[in-house]
Amino acid sequence: MQGYIHSIETMGLVDGPGTRTVFFLQGCPLRCAFCHNPDTLKRVGGRAMTPEEVVKLVSRYRSYYGEEGGVTFSGGEPLLQGEFVYECLKLLKREGYNTCIDTSGFGNPRFNAQILPLVDTLILDVKAFDRQSFLDLTTIDGFDAYLDFLASLDRNGFNGQIWVRHVMVPGLTDNKESMEKFIQIIKPIRNKVDRIEILPYHTSGVKKYHELGIPYRLEGVEPMDKKRAKEFEIYANKLFADELRQERADREKIRQEKFKELKEREVASEQEKAEVFQALRGLPLLNDVDEVDVEAVFNEVILSNIKAGELIFKTGDPPDFMYLIYEGQMKIYVNTVDGEEQIFYIYRDGDFVGGLNLLVQTPYRYIGQALTDCKVVVIPKATFDRYFYNSPVVLRSVLVKSFERIRWAEELIQRLATSNASMKTAGLLLKLVKRIGVETEEGIRLELSMSREELGNYSGLRRETITRKLGEFKELGYIELIGNRVIIVKDIEALERYVL
Ligand code: SF4
Repeated sequence: MQGYIHSIETMGLVDGPGTRTVFFLQGCPLRCAFCHNPDTLKRVGGRAMTPEEVVKLVSRYRSYYGEEGGVTFSGGEPLLQGEFVYECLKLLKREGYNTCIDTSGFGNPRFNAQILPLVDTLILDVKAFDRQSFLDLTTIDGFDAYLDFLASLDRNGFNGQIWVRHVMVPGLTDNKESMEKFIQIIKPIRNKVDRIEILPYHTSGVKKYHELGIPYRLEGVEPMDKKRAKEFEIYANKLFADELRQERADREKIRQEKFKELKEREVASEQEKAEVFQALRGLPLLNDVDEVDVEAVFNEVILSNIKAGELIFKTGDPPDFMYLIYEGQMKIYVNTVDGEEQIFYIYRDGDFVGGLNLLVQTPYRYIGQALTDCKVVVIPKATFDRYFYNSPVVLRSVLVKSFERIRWAEELIQRLATSNASMKTAGLLLKLVKRIGVETEEGIRLELSMSREELGNYSGLRRETITRKLGEFKELGYIELIGNRVIIVKDIEALERYVL
């Protein structure tokens, strides 16, 4: 495995935090009008190096990196040599180096999910702020692909900080309207943006074009005035800070409204509350909380009555609360693009939801709706942070639950993708047996909180199909149906044969 390196700057100071060794890689699919490195654009050329040679070289400079510095891959477009960069990053991370990539987002996307988790700082070049300008500037109709790249960073496991850069060319983006568009473009990554820089366009690369005999598309355009570029940089940073402030204020408003809504449904009777809290004392969740703090926790949580059919949270809700079901059942679902409801989980007494959202600060991706009248203990984020965040018992419970849910979701996907209607119905009944089945003399009794339609949504079948299949299973003697809400499973082995 070899990569093609155009040049190496052993002690760079501008391409990432601290002092860094910068590898400028060969190859770039874009053709930016202002590119001052036209000699890096070809994919092959320069010096061939293996990842091991890269690590050996940087080890000589390691003592200069200090706390912040490290190794940067720039270009050209480093992601174009995705496999090579990934191999280098793997070795560098194993040795504990700080890593940085300077990219326009146009590489080999196959390696993004492997590369991005290994990157500490991403320097993102934002070329233009709309589709036509992007095309004019880079000769590639890639604005949408660029936006997709930004939106995919989280999904691809990027967890570092982002420096956003824009080269300002006089007459193109040196105006306030462009800066406003700029800030809107980086909105999806705002939580990771650490710095916004405006780089003034300069003409130091023009000579290279003349030497290489390539026409220079910005011929005659004067360099950008550095002072003006700085003023626009300050303006862009101010806009960004205002956006963040507004967003925080909006979020706080949502949190307060939600808190008020939950408070309004709070169980009124002090005696009932005391009984619930007494029962909660037995939960492992409170194991690590000091006895004196348990009372404080009970003072801060809300014990809410949620009526069957009411929403507890919905997609996009900020991670402000964790919900512990004291009594009742809740379904977790999404509305699919076909307008169907796809149920993922049914939660019941003792289950909790939202712990992982609080830990990793991601909004809710699903909808939580009460299937029956529920009593839900609502734990605000501040309470969670104060009393539970550092508790190994809580962290373990959240991780175990998350793992169970991933397994459950994987099984669901497999069931939906590979099973016929009989298999799906049998699989669903077996899940319900495990979850809510009660052994009786007649068989395993399932008291359902879901309608036939919801059973269908849970198993990926239409209401008519699940009704027909349940009827068939009844005819075969596998189950007995009592009204619409009770199923007695008579022959569990027969059901198991469908799914094994
Ligand atoms: S992305 Fe960078 S290397 Fe590629 S053409 Fe543009 S300025 Fe040049």
